[in-house]
Amino acid sequence: MGNNSSLDKAKKLDAEDPLAGFRKKFVHEDPSVIYFDGNSLGKLPKATSELLSNVTDKQWGKELIDSWNKSWLNKNIEIGNKIASIIGAKEGEVIISDNTSINLYKLSKAAIQFQHPRKTIVSDNLNFPSDLYILQGIADEHGMKLEMVASRDEMTIDSESFIDYLNQDTGLVSLTHVAFKSAFMYDMEKITSIAHKVGALVLWDLSHSVGAVPLDMSQTNVDMAVGCTYKYLNGGPGAPAFLYVRKELQDTLFSPVKGWFGAANMFDFNLRYQPEDDIRRFLTGTPPIISQAAIEPGVDMIIDAGVSRIRNKSIQLSEYFVELYECELKSFGYVLTSPSNAQLRGSHISISHNEAFRITKALMDRSIDGYKIVPDFRAPHNIRFGFAPLYNAFEEIYSLVEKLKTIVTKKLYENYDDKKDVVT
Ligand SMILES: *Cc1c(COP(=O)(O)O)cnc(C)c1O
Repeated sequence: MGNNSSLDKAKKLDAEDPLAGFRKKFVHEDPSVIYFDGNSLGKLPKATSELLSNVTDKQWGKELIDSWNKSWLNKNIEIGNKIASIIGAKEGEVIISDNTSINLYKLSKAAIQFQHPRKTIVSDNLNFPSDLYILQGIADEHGMKLEMVASRDEMTIDSESFIDYLNQDTGLVSLTHVAFKSAFMYDMEKITSIAHKVGALVLWDLSHSVGAVPLDMSQTNVDMAVGCTYKYLNGGPGAPAFLYVRKELQDTLFSPVKGWFGAANMFDFNLRYQPEDDIRRFLTGTPPIISQAAIEPGVDMIIDAGVSRIRNKSIQLSEYFVELYECELKSFGYVLTSPSNAQLRGSHISISHNEAFRITKALMDRSIDGYKIVPDFRAPHNIRFGFAPLYNAFEEIYSLVEKLKTIVTKKLYENYDDKKDVVT
């Protein structure tokens, strides 16, 4: 593209970036990889490798079962409290447990039982499939209906459209705050208050929000939330998820999975289940101590960097991309499938192209420009780029746009086939 002023701008933004120092705290094994998949699986923090060898060699290897009392038993609360601080929740309102899908099941089921005999659950068609499967499953179990607010442009949904779906029959509204495809971000406070007006409870999935955008559970009066730790929190593959329940609701909601870790005085081994009287009642069984431990260094870094600085850089990164898209990509068949207003987006960007799949393959091919650029492909025609402010740089976005343009102007995608791997 030979656009020196765009490259100069990237270099200037990188030089002025207050978060630039965080990049070296992550493992970058191969300098020719440009990684834009931090919204699917965040990178490995260097501190995590060290911590994990301590957890296995010292805590497990030497101290064995003593480690439960020394550090393991309350780790889910301790990390939960740290996550609480980045989502604007209070101490004791967040805990690490299971995965996001199971947490969504436990909390939405608890909410529906509490809301009996209300008849509907409301969600939308931008939601993550796992969330919709679970909500539909619960609706079926209870003879209820799952109502889906539909996006007209497959990208955004106007908050006002919820008003038509909500009434005294609505038991629960469950939505993903930042949509996994388009990155559209809801006005959490507005939707929550519309739902509360008809007495519905609200459950937000924060998987694509936590560690990337400012959140304030207390201020926005959110009832319940769940979210992943392996995306922008960099907790590692399969790291357990978190759940949040507003303090005032904790003793009125009951987990449908009544395991011993959620029972009061679990080490009394009572034969009759009594729920714990705090957030721990939503635990099930023994936590995966090793992968849970891996969450903490990533969360510490988010706290260190500060969510508002992270959000500033995230907006700058995506605005820089959109600016280049307008002048370099738009005329070559690429279409922006994320909101163009940065205030309505999370930290990833989606574009579409008829040749999206083969373009994705070409992006990963080093022989074109020396870089393996890693995005993810979302069927049928979307390519998604996650911008992780702690380790992505503006110059990486410059290289990305240059390659996207070259692949199409020189029809390089024709060199690749349509065969798909399982994980895209
Ligand atoms: C990534 C993601 C999940 C993942 O759920 P798991 O049960 O942890 O696999 C759930 N919901 C949303 C919105 C996601 O983006």
